[in-house]
Amino acid sequence: MALSDLNPVERNEEGIAAVLGILKQRLGERFQTGQAIRTQHAHTTTYIPTQAPDGVAFPETTAEVQEIVSACAAHRVPVIAFGVGSSLEGHTNAPGGGISVDTSRMNRILAVNPQDLDCTVEPGVTREDLNRHLRDTGLFFPIDPGANASLGGMAATRASGTNAVRYGTMRENVLSLTAVMADGETVTTGKRAKKSSAGYDLTRLLIGSEGTLGIITELTLKLQGIPQAISGGVCPFPSVEAACNAVIATVQMGIPVARIELVNALQMRAMKSYSKLDYPESPCLFVEFHGSDAGVAEQAETFGTIAEEYGGGPFLWTSVAEERTKLWKARHDAYWSSLTLRPGAKGLSTDVCVPISRFAECVTQTEADIAEMGLIAPIVGHAGDGNFHVLVLMDVDDPKEIAATEGFVARLNMRAIGMDGTCTGEHGIGQGKIGFLRHELGHSVDIMRTIKRALDPLDIMNPGKILPAD
Ligand SMILES: Cc1cc2nc3c(=O)[nH]c(=O)nc-3n(C[C@H](O)[C@H](O)[C@H](O)COP(=O)(O)OP(=O)(O)OC[C@H]3O[C@@H](n4cnc5c(N)ncnc54)[C@H](O)[C@@H]3O)c2cc1C
Repeated sequence: MALSDLNPVERNEEGIAAVLGILKQRLGERFQTGQAIRTQHAHTTTYIPTQAPDGVAFPETTAEVQEIVSACAAHRVPVIAFGVGSSLEGHTNAPGGGISVDTSRMNRILAVNPQDLDCTVEPGVTREDLNRHLRDTGLFFPIDPGANASLGGMAATRASGTNAVRYGTMRENVLSLTAVMADGETVTTGKRAKKSSAGYDLTRLLIGSEGTLGIITELTLKLQGIPQAISGGVCPFPSVEAACNAVIATVQMGIPVARIELVNALQMRAMKSYSKLDYPESPCLFVEFHGSDAGVAEQAETFGTIAEEYGGGPFLWTSVAEERTKLWKARHDAYWSSLTLRPGAKGLSTDVCVPISRFAECVTQTEADIAEMGLIAPIVGHAGDGNFHVLVLMDVDDPKEIAATEGFVARLNMRAIGMDGTCTGEHGIGQGKIGFLRHELGHSVDIMRTIKRALDPLDIMNPGKILPAD
C-alpha cells in the first residue's frame, strides 16, 4: 500500500488562497511562496515523496505563531511546524497543502539557571547552539540526535541519541513547554520544579506529538553538569552476536555507561574510509564513561573484562578529549559515511527498539534477513537502549528495490513489535510508520484519536501524520 493511501488529506483550495493573502499582508518578506523554499520545507531526507506546503511563514514570537494558527483555523487550512527538517518519516510533508511554520527565527535562549540546572529556550535553537552557549557554565544538554536538530523538533519527535542510555530521551529532559494549540490559544504545561504530581501530564502529551496537537514556542529543559572525567574507546568483536551479548551483560550488571554504540562490520568499513579510523573491519562497540577519574578508569576496566568474556578486544580507551572527539564525530557521521557504500543511492534509516534481553536476537535475525535479501544495509545502534538503525541503501528510481526495501522494513518492524519492542525508538511515526501503530499499540490508537479530535477538531495541525485514516 502506498503511503498516500494511508494518509489522504483533502486540499481546501479556497481556504488556502485566503490564508496566503492574509499571511503575505501580515508577515511581508517573512512569508514565502517560491517553489524552491516550499520544497525545502517538505520531507526531503528519504525516498518518501516530497509533498510541499503552499507557503512558508517565519514567525519571530509566540504571538505571531498564534496569529498564523488562528488564520489557518478560521479557514480550515493545515499548519505544519518545521524545525530544521531532519526528521525521517515524512513528518514535515503537507499532503493536503497548507502553511509550514518555520521556527528558525525563534532562536533565543531566554534563561539559563545554573543553580537549578535548567534553561528556557525558543524552539528554533538547535542542540549544538545550546551547547555552545552553555560551554562556559560547566553545564550541557545531553540529547544528541545525529543531525543538528532544533529543540522544538526534538521535543515534537521525542528524540534521543547516543547519550540516552545514561541521560534519557527528550521525554525525561523537558520540564515544561509553551505551545500554541489548534484554536490559537497558548498553554504552558508546567513550572521549573524537577518533579510534579499536578494533574494530567500535558508536557509529555505534547512531547512526541509531531506537531499534530500544537506548535511548541518555548521549552524549559533540564541541564547536566559536564563530568569531571570522560573516558571512552572502541572494542572489536568476532561477531555482531558477541558484541550484542557484551552490551546486554554490561547493562544488566548496572555499569553506568554514558554511551554504548554498536557498529557492524559493513558500517565499520564505511567509517574507516570516510572518517579515517584505524580499527579492524569487524563489529565494534563504541563506549564512553562519565564520572570521576577513578570511576571512569574502573568502569573502562570492568567493561574490558566483560568484552573479553565474549571474545572481544582489545578494548583501547582514552581520556584524551581530541581522540574521543574524533571517535564520536565518526559515529555521528555514520549516516553520511554509509552513503559512500553505494554512491547515488538514497538511505532509508529504520529505528526499532527492543527490550535489552532480546537485542542480540533481533539484530542477528535482521542481519540474516539483510543477507538473504542481498541488501546493502549497514547497522548502527544505540545498543544500551536496545535500539538500532539499519540504513538501507536503495535506488529510488527502481520500484522493485523500493518494494523489496519496504518488505524488509515491515518484517523488521513486526519482528521488534513481536519481541515486545517498538517500530520506532526515536524517529517517530510521521507518514512512514502509520501502518504499524495499531499493531504495536492496539486500542491505544483509538484513545489517541479521541485526544486529537478534542484538541484539534478541524484537523488542521499536521494532518495525515501519526494516526491512520478511519
Ligand atoms: C543523519 C541523521 C541522523 C539522525 N539521528 C537521530 C538520532 O540519533 N536520534 C533521533 O532521535 N533522531 C535522529 N534523526 C532524526 C531527526 O534528527 C530527529 O527526528 C529530530 O528530532 C528532528 O528535529 P528537526 O528540528 O529536524 O524537526 P523537523 O524535521 O523540522 O520536524 C519534525 C517533526 O516535528 C514537528 N515540529 C518541529 N518543530 C516543532 C515545534 N516547534 N512544535 C511542534 N512540532 C514541531 C514537525 O511538524 C514534524 O512533525 C536523525 C536524522 C538524520 C538526518
